[in-house]
Amino acid sequence: MLGNRTFTMVKPEAVANSNTGAILAKIEEAGFRIVAMKKLHLSEERAGKFYAVHSERPFFGELVEYMSSGPIVAVILEKEDAVADFRTLIGATDPSQAEEGTIRKLFAESKAKNAVHGSDSDENAAIESSFFFADLEQF
Ligand code: UDP
Ligand code: MG
Repeated sequence: MLGNRTFTMVKPEAVANSNTGAILAKIEEAGFRIVAMKKLHLSEERAGKFYAVHSERPFFGELVEYMSSGPIVAVILEKEDAVADFRTLIGATDPSQAEEGTIRKLFAESKAKNAVHGSDSDENAAIESSFFFADLEQF
């Protein structure tokens, strides 16, 4: 299965702005299949654990505050070359740098509030998926 799955979150501002459905529609139109999905509200502690790799970065405190500010939708996706193709679909971290038609270009508010997460490697896709879906083997 490695290589065919990635992990995404619809981030708090996109959920609050009722963009979850439109974003999921873009994802499905691009050929991704939804393997598992849940809506939940991360605590600051859980958000900090998810983004632990960024704990030394200057934006870490704001990132944790933002990611725990409201519900997110966590999704495991399946497609050939899932990680790379999903990063292309979402566009650059900063929406002002993102290609036209990408999810971040369409829906992101800022570099911080950028609508969606996308795993950056097969290894991290597996780690991030199991962070949210402990019962992963059933999907
Ligand atoms: N982020 C931020 N400021 C920055 C860089 C990143 O607020 O200068 C936030 C943003 O929400 C981003 C997340 O931290 O999506 C993780 O950063 P990363 O560099 O991994 O970007 P991504 O992989 O999400 O494109
Ligand atoms: Mg990243």
